[in-house]
Amino acid sequence: MENKVSFYNTLTRKVERFIPNEDGKVAMYTCGPTVYHYAHIGNLRSYIMEDLLEKTLRYVGYDVKRVMNITDVGHLSSDADTGEDKMLKGAKREHKTVMEIAKFYTDAFFEDCAKLNIKTPDVVEPATNCIAEFIHMIETLIQKEYAYESGGNIYFDTSKLEEYYVFSSQSEKELLVGVRDDVDEDANKRNKSDFVLWFTKSKFDDQELKWESPWGVGYPGWHIECSCISMKHLGEAMDIHCGGVDNIFPHHTNEIAQSEAYLGHKWCNYWFHVHHLNDKSGKMSKSKGDFLTVSLLESKGYDPIVYRFFCLQSHYRKPLEFSYEVLDNMSAAYDKLVKRIGTLDRTGEINRESFASYRAKFEAALRDDLNSSMAVTVLYDMLKDDMTDATKYALAESFDEVLSLNLTTAHAAREADNRVDAVLEQYVLAKIDERAAAKKEKDFAKADAIRNELLEKGIVLEDTREGVKWKKA
Ligand code: AMP
Ligand code: ZN
Repeated sequence: MENKVSFYNTLTRKVERFIPNEDGKVAMYTCGPTVYHYAHIGNLRSYIMEDLLEKTLRYVGYDVKRVMNITDVGHLSSDADTGEDKMLKGAKREHKTVMEIAKFYTDAFFEDCAKLNIKTPDVVEPATNCIAEFIHMIETLIQKEYAYESGGNIYFDTSKLEEYYVFSSQSEKELLVGVRDDVDEDANKRNKSDFVLWFTKSKFDDQELKWESPWGVGYPGWHIECSCISMKHLGEAMDIHCGGVDNIFPHHTNEIAQSEAYLGHKWCNYWFHVHHLNDKSGKMSKSKGDFLTVSLLESKGYDPIVYRFFCLQSHYRKPLEFSYEVLDNMSAAYDKLVKRIGTLDRTGEINRESFASYRAKFEAALRDDLNSSMAVTVLYDMLKDDMTDATKYALAESFDEVLSLNLTTAHAAREADNRVDAVLEQYVLAKIDERAAAKKEKDFAKADAIRNELLEKGIVLEDTREGVKWKKA
């Protein structure tokens, strides 16, 4: 296939031309969210850029199958059996069961994704659906002597591998081994870098979800779900595995260790990692208490898609700092952009040559290590160029298959919203007058009925010294 796309492969530490296992087809896997809380906009940066990769591949002609897990089994934040179980913490915080928490935050995650035009993967699989597959993989690893039982738990034996730290340069490897010296070591392990595949004995006895297994009642370790869920749906060879950079070690390193030991051959060729979104105080995290969510941005009056626009203006391999100042600028630029596109006259001729030439420039930007800010520049250049409006409109519509910024629909939707708001305002003002008249005549029952009627329609009245004010609930 002539469609050349290049991106940075963490495994080889260079930008590489992408060549799938099967011509024209892409098997792609994404580490999904841990559903114990809302996703913060840092998490969503990773999903936006992975969505961009998927849509770029589709745009240039690949048939992509994308799979994502949902981490609904609690796992400890360390392989040394330390740290809190996040799912359990979420359940305690909200006085719900772990499964109720998982359901609520899985739905919330996909609602956020929809607001950011992130396509739902072809397959979404919760970890709790696949316990039998996890047990099967662990049994095979024990048979092949890559895993051992110790102190009631099953561990992966990293000393059996030729190379364990596959993503790291030599100096990083030394550092990682050093880091491991500091952790509160689990005395059951044969080697410091070994990790748990199945727990039956943990320091944390109050685990809510537990399953029968050949080694006793327990629950899976942190990494097994992604190996099993990807193989269940994508088979024994995968093209691209995605995640944020924090997943590189230990999560993806351990996924490779257990998957390749299980399969006996190479598993995934390309590893795509998105750098972090930071706020002024550093890396964003869900455990920091007050974190940035899509709903928070909405409550401050931002259209969530402006956040997508913000992400697309910077490269996935650079850390990105969030600030409201920049988001305000993006918001203003986005308003102008969609107005410009929305007011193009679509009735003329589409010039096929110009269309093809700009589409090629747009594709070239994306094929070159997913240069999304350059792709946005091509959009601006195209709008400035001397071409028919119809050509520009058709190009904007085409580019939006990848950018997903509602380029051709946002302006009309906003105008319609403004019209609805104007009609609503007229209606509410008339009701406020009617209520004032009722009060004057001391007909308080009628005045209350009017207030309640508005409340049912989602309109709240406030009596202030300056008069009656109203807002949407
Ligand atoms: P989690 O729900 O914690 O499992 O994380 C979901 C995804 O978000 C993973 O791919 C993480 O690597 C990614 N991630 C976590 N923090 C950030 C951040 N600050 N910026 C970008 N991606 C992140
Ligand atoms: Zn994963």
